[in-house]
Amino acid sequence: MSTTPLALYGPGLAVGRDVQVLHRAASREFSGWLEHTRSAGGCARPIRLTGTIAAVDRNTGRILSEQHTDELPDRTLYTACGNRRESACPDCAWVYQGDAYQVVCRGLTGGKGIPASVGRHPVVFATFTAPSFGPVHHRHVPRHTCRNRQRCDCRPAPCRARSNAGTCPHGQPAACFARHDVDDPRLGQPLCLDCYDHAHQVVWNYFSGELWRRTKQAIDRHLAATCRRRGIPKVGIVTASGKVRWVPPVRVSHGKVAEMQRRAAVHFHVLLRLDGVDPDDPDALVPPPAGITIDDLEDAIHAAVRQITVTTPAHPDRPQGWLIAWGEQVDVRRINTADGELMDGKVAAYLAKYAIKATEATGHQSTRLTPATIDDYADPEGGHLARLIDACWHLGRPTGTDIASGAATAGGRQGSLDTRPNAYAGLRRWAHMLGFGGHFLTKARRYSVTFGLLRDARATYRRAEDDDPTDIVTVGALTYAGSGWLTEGDALLANTAAAQRRQARRIGREELAHEAWLVGAAA
Ligand SMILES: [Zn+2]
Ligand SMILES: [Zn+2]
Ligand SMILES: [Zn+2]
Ligand SMILES: [Zn+2]
Repeated sequence: MSTTPLALYGPGLAVGRDVQVLHRAASREFSGWLEHTRSAGGCARPIRLTGTIAAVDRNTGRILSEQHTDELPDRTLYTACGNRRESACPDCAWVYQGDAYQVVCRGLTGGKGIPASVGRHPVVFATFTAPSFGPVHHRHVPRHTCRNRQRCDCRPAPCRARSNAGTCPHGQPAACFARHDVDDPRLGQPLCLDCYDHAHQVVWNYFSGELWRRTKQAIDRHLAATCRRRGIPKVGIVTASGKVRWVPPVRVSHGKVAEMQRRAAVHFHVLLRLDGVDPDDPDALVPPPAGITIDDLEDAIHAAVRQITVTTPAHPDRPQGWLIAWGEQVDVRRINTADGELMDGKVAAYLAKYAIKATEATGHQSTRLTPATIDDYADPEGGHLARLIDACWHLGRPTGTDIASGAATAGGRQGSLDTRPNAYAGLRRWAHMLGFGGHFLTKARRYSVTFGLLRDARATYRRAEDDDPTDIVTVGALTYAGSGWLTEGDALLANTAAAQRRQARRIGREELAHEAWLVGAAA
């Protein structure tokens, strides 16, 4: 057993990274260590585990061998952190992004257990936006001539050109004639911080998931009504108890990604696919009935967006609650139709890109905020982000007594103690997300393959690659020992090796490296 680097380079010992690298690489156990760390090699902050690992025969349940992590290099087992955020761990996010791409793409073209016939179902790609909470600096290009929108250098229109706009009650100009560059820090910032409705925006973010849920229900209802009007019969499904349940002959399966805009309002990019219902196999993915088309799907989306709003519960700061509705335009595009607006792969890559982001576009990044850290970020008199975070913290405060008195006045229940939890309490939990507490990628159960299936496929491939007999399973009784590499030098060595392996895999492959690699990896 070699001297552990932890003993040599413990906290307080200022040993340079280069020395750590030399020490590790010169050790006799180096190649074993590199192999040992391989499964977590690219991870920025792997999880370290200690305990016992047993190899068990899948057929007999017999323990074939047992090993304690003390016998392993560094006396720990390394496992990748699995963080989906690119800013937290680029490597784990890269794997997640590949999975997200697969999940989205399989729902469009089939594969991995999804029938290829889904490619012929009507599909649209819709973007649902938040309304305005006050004017912000923005960049609008009337006609793009650039090749890459991410690095767009086209000449934008003036931001908010108004000849006689004057000033707001706080003395701020209500117009902006600047033509903002893509990286202008003013983009997404309110023209006047005091006019801007920060409270409404964070409440909107917080309830946007509920707005989406009800909108999706309304889309389903609209389509069911269209079927009724056209005389397309319902489908009878025999339930487990032997009864027949009649359901509409179409359903909409979706895959959805949330994007946090620069102004820190959430919007959703959603793929909506029309499926039919097979009475003999309700879980099967079958085409919708012939009488329902992509036009009907579009109509249903537009109708639902116009119709659906959510009024949030009473809050002491606003007894009537807030109105949560979609922004003015919902952008609906067709995929793979004759006019070929959008292609499967492009849409899937677009969605996968957002699946590994959170609040990065806003400029804010922090972990969950606590009473100890909130003052570093929240300020009611501060900038845009500081005011949004302050609004989350302020609205999410414990308000039991406030609400009780409000309810007593409204309902005449004098003196009764209201113990309802504050419906806004979660805003504190999600203050670091500017109020948004939802998942960044969600999908309907039937839309596509699951992330779990893709992970299993990768693990199987890895075992096959390592010549592990597949009737042996590894079972661990492991406890958490810590996070991160033992030294910066270790991180550099493990990450570099992982980057080289990846580079080798990428050579000769095209832009969509994820697809290529993951198809190979899971085949
Ligand atoms: Zn990681
Ligand atoms: Zn401007
Ligand atoms: Zn452009
Ligand atoms: Zn103002």
